[in-house]
Amino acid sequence: MRFTLLGTGTSSGVPAIGCTCAVCTSSDPRDNRLRTGAAVRFVDVDGRARTVLIDATPDLRQQALRFGLDRCDAILFTHNHVDHTFGLDEVRRYNAMQKGPIDIYAEEHTLAFLKGVFRYIFDRDANLNDSFVANLIPWTIRPGEALDLWGLRVTPVRLLHGKLPIVGFRFDTGGLRNGAATVSAAAEADAAADGFVNPFPLAYCTDVSAVPPESWRSLEGLGTLVIDGLRHRAHPTHLTVAQALDVVERVRPRAAYLTHISHDLGHAATEAELPEGVHMGFDGLTLSDERLGEPQSLT
Ligand SMILES: [Zn+2]
Ligand SMILES: [Zn+2]
Ligand SMILES: [Zn+2]
Repeated sequence: MRFTLLGTGTSSGVPAIGCTCAVCTSSDPRDNRLRTGAAVRFVDVDGRARTVLIDATPDLRQQALRFGLDRCDAILFTHNHVDHTFGLDEVRRYNAMQKGPIDIYAEEHTLAFLKGVFRYIFDRDANLNDSFVANLIPWTIRPGEALDLWGLRVTPVRLLHGKLPIVGFRFDTGGLRNGAATVSAAAEADAAADGFVNPFPLAYCTDVSAVPPESWRSLEGLGTLVIDGLRHRAHPTHLTVAQALDVVERVRPRAAYLTHISHDLGHAATEAELPEGVHMGFDGLTLSDERLGEPQSLT
């Protein structure tokens, strides 16, 4: 199971067009941030490779090429904002390669937005020419109602993005581990002795300004928390770094990574100020549990 941050930048991306600030002109590749999205890649209980995307950013094509996303089995949407949805058109390449439709999962209000914006995809019969457009199957999700995606357990978690109710996602690998990928106690002890820390369960909470009371339970017992940490200055719809650290303090994951980062924060300087166990996310950061062994069905 591999989790990759495909992009960690705020809605304008970093560098921002035309900006000459120190971060936008930095030579540190970690200061280059595509729009915020992620991918979970794993081998399912039948031994098939699966890729689940979180959001479809306007940079999706570039992210797919850069990080070798050679397939797409499902897309989970956090919310309807442009920086999380305007790459949806790009998935038609996966339809062509995989010769089949792709499941997309979102809350009802997010699906309504997608159907309005991407009418040529969802109301394909109205197109004058039957051209090369994505083929998607929409599914409605609700906070707290877990999905089983080929053995990966995905729980939508209610978050507030200013006044907009959105979702984060919690990923539990238990279904896979209990099925094809049972890990022996000896393998687990062996990995721990080498300093290996299992990054799962992992929760991905971008574009959040507040965690409502009912959601804290879904964030218990995490290996990793990925959390919005826009900048130091207050913002009406995003957590500041200090507010993100408050969430981390309460959730107590083994490790936490900030995402949706603006050009106010340089990677190296900010990383140096963060407490132990909390890090700046960066494009391409990959967290894996492969140290725990390959699924038995593959060996
Ligand atoms: Zn955003
Ligand atoms: Zn800048
Ligand atoms: Zn947003």
